[in-house]
Amino acid sequence: MISIAIDGPSGAGKSTISRRAAEMFGFIYVDTGAIYRTIGLASKTHGVSLDDKAAVIAMLPELKIDLKYNAAGEQHMYLDGKDVSRDIRLPEVSMLASKVSAIPEVRAFLVDMQRDMAKRYDVIMDGRDIGTVILPDADLKIFLTADVSDRAHRRYEELCAKGIEKPFEEVLAEMKQRDEQDTARAAAPLKAADDAVMLDTSGNTLEESIAEVCRLIADKTGRKIGERP
Ligand code: C5P
Repeated sequence: MISIAIDGPSGAGKSTISRRAAEMFGFIYVDTGAIYRTIGLASKTHGVSLDDKAAVIAMLPELKIDLKYNAAGEQHMYLDGKDVSRDIRLPEVSMLASKVSAIPEVRAFLVDMQRDMAKRYDVIMDGRDIGTVILPDADLKIFLTADVSDRAHRRYEELCAKGIEKPFEEVLAEMKQRDEQDTARAAAPLKAADDAVMLDTSGNTLEESIAEVCRLIADKTGRKIGERP
């Protein structure tokens, strides 16, 4: 099985680039942020305060979290049997996800789910600790970054396209806060693996970044775009 790890801060373009590259190479795209978002959402629906770590940890065994793919190859998240793929994209859930993801027990709870995917399929997996913790033996590790203002602009435009109104200044402030939380935490902080290829997408068009990632994958794996193993 081939595994490609793509890590980096929020808004660097990881998910769009990973999804498109996975389609081109016929790999499964695993969005691990969606799994943390599902736990963040669960803490809200279960009425658990994120300041009460013991309560978050006690909630974990009660949760039924499933990751499924539809016929188009899109990942859907299920919480207690309900498809929550749309709910987890709400801006407030981003912050909840960032908070729950700092709890080591939450991270440990999700390790096997992520590694199992890489055992069963050729994957492009994106997140914060894929190259450092989840798949240390990945065939290729990429660390995607971009200036924080570029990333906030992209996120702002995504929200506008979804009809979610939020001032740019707020999007930027939240992006900085999430960067700080994700980088400063003790448990699996956001950082590039020593053997990761660093790719700064500031000023790139999306198509340029996708082409660059596809080139790296082709070079490293010997696979060609459109080729099915
Ligand atoms: O990637 P996304 O923005 O959807 O992730 C939401 C949050 O989940 C991130 O801010 C980060 O705190 C957390 N996360 C993580 N480890 C991962 C993926 C996401 O800690 N592998």
